[in-house]
Amino acid sequence: MKSKQKLSIVIPVFNEQDLLETMVTNLIGILEEIEAEPDILLVDDGSTDATPETIARLCSDRNVITAVTLSRNFGKEAAIHAGIARASGDCVLVMDADLQHPPSLIPEMMAAWQKGALVVEAVKLEPVRTGLVNRLGAVLFYRLYRRLSGLEITNHSDFKLLDRSVADLYLQMKEKHRFFRGLVHWMGLDAVQLTFAAGPSYARSSRWSIFGLIKYALNNISSFTTLPLQVITFMGVGVVLLGAVLGVWTLGDKLLGQSAEGFTTINLLLIILGGAIMTSLGILGHYIGKIYEEVKDRPDYIVKPAMKDREGDGP
Ligand code: UDP
Ligand code: MG
Repeated sequence: MKSKQKLSIVIPVFNEQDLLETMVTNLIGILEEIEAEPDILLVDDGSTDATPETIARLCSDRNVITAVTLSRNFGKEAAIHAGIARASGDCVLVMDADLQHPPSLIPEMMAAWQKGALVVEAVKLEPVRTGLVNRLGAVLFYRLYRRLSGLEITNHSDFKLLDRSVADLYLQMKEKHRFFRGLVHWMGLDAVQLTFAAGPSYARSSRWSIFGLIKYALNNISSFTTLPLQVITFMGVGVVLLGAVLGVWTLGDKLLGQSAEGFTTINLLLIILGGAIMTSLGILGHYIGKIYEEVKDRPDYIVKPAMKDREGDGP
């Protein structure tokens, strides 16, 4: 008889004491309905609430659950990476711990994979961010991302099922600044898309601060395009052309005996040029910073080593 296929489920978890247990209970209920051997990896991304105890309890109650504990908070992307690196399933599913990604969609996702899909992605029916600033930010991010990188990931989520071969491709990528959704889409493999209405994420607000989201958005955009660097060149050419026109004009004035006037013009030029130069340096600095981070080749997460009992080894 053919043995059951193994389904690894990677769940990044950061301070989810209120929802995690409900989420895992729901998930296990759904998994009982499908013909697959489950392997649930709860990646604790340095939680500071009662999440570690909840994870420990869940692990001792159910042997299909494994805990991966990061030494501190490394961010969701690192947690996803840590989980996928430890997932041994024939397919790997990634989902949030806060009930925004409904486990009820898993049977349909599995069915699509069993029919041969390499990537099954759950796409949000509508944006889930609440609050005007967050919503505007999300719209702006997806537009900019599409314009600059040429990849369309509007309303995509991290709720994805990857075939083993795709998980391996993801692991082969060595970059430190990871953007799971973007990387999977960038691979360009045919993906089956299923839509879902994201749950309300009941008892808690998003784990992202506005500043954190802006940093995440900028990093994700620059990971997929170097267009901003080319924009600097165009800006430079524009300034040179403008300078040529102004230069001819000023020289002409001088030759005609009219003294070049315009303290205001000089002031404006200084401000515009100063601003353009500083912006360009900022863009260059951002990319250099990223090169530095990549060259250092530090891992993007550290898994807490298991505690050792050294007491018995004394002299
Ligand atoms: N998360 C994480 N590390 C973090 C922030 C979030 O592992 O530093 C996890 C979190 O526990 C949840 C998922 O990533 O399972 C999505 O986080 P959240 O719901 O706050 O993000 P949003 O839904 O607002 O995108
Ligand atoms: Mg959420």
